[in-house]
Amino acid sequence: MEVATNLANIRSRIEAACDRSNRNKEDIVIIGVTKYVTIERTEETINAGIKNLGENRLEGFLDKYQHFQDEDVCWHFIGSLQTRKVKDVIDKVDMVHSLDRMSLAKEINKRIDRPVDCFIQVNVSGEESKHGLMKEELMQFIADIRQYEHVRIAGLMTMAPLTENEQVIRNVFRELRELRDAVKEQGHSHAPCRFLSMGMSNDYEIAIEEGATHIRIGTDLVG
Ligand SMILES: *Cc1c(COP(=O)(O)O)cnc(C)c1O
Repeated sequence: MEVATNLANIRSRIEAACDRSNRNKEDIVIIGVTKYVTIERTEETINAGIKNLGENRLEGFLDKYQHFQDEDVCWHFIGSLQTRKVKDVIDKVDMVHSLDRMSLAKEINKRIDRPVDCFIQVNVSGEESKHGLMKEELMQFIADIRQYEHVRIAGLMTMAPLTENEQVIRNVFRELRELRDAVKEQGHSHAPCRFLSMGMSNDYEIAIEEGATHIRIGTDLVG
């Protein structure tokens, strides 16, 4: 399927989810996750009108970045980021979606001289296999991160568990929104925390209904 066809379908589903939840579709950023596909398919994605691209591995990211750096694209790093690789990507990304430990914040701070917008990844469901902070750790983490002046907490990110049970998924997204609201309420200048990065091909409509501002779509868009 052409990316443009997939995108039209996704956009109409986004619109329907926005209607159901009284939201504006302009408030939803679609991040096209190109980690599975070639440069050619990525180019097709950009030409279809996607302005935000996400990659989850250093090599794939650098490959796409080098190819398309002159295009009008925002770059999102969505995968777990090894501390020793920070220096290779941090001056190239617009947003990091996977801040999950203090040592990573420290390294980001050290390797760049401007503020970088980061999402803190939260392991809402508490599954052992998942990356992310436990929700009980979140508030202290945010207080502690103030010392790293180049790390700005733009929002929270999560991945829902792999399940057919829609209510379980919905509860995870809802909980992330409540955590976001609680952080925002604290009014830290280093943590405006306006955004919610949640929702992938299987669950983005639920995520939108629960307040997602950034959805990360791979398979449905480019697959
Ligand atoms: C691969 C990936 C996605 C996209 O997943 P799809 O199910 O293909 O839409 C989103 N977020 C993260 C963190 C990913 O690694």
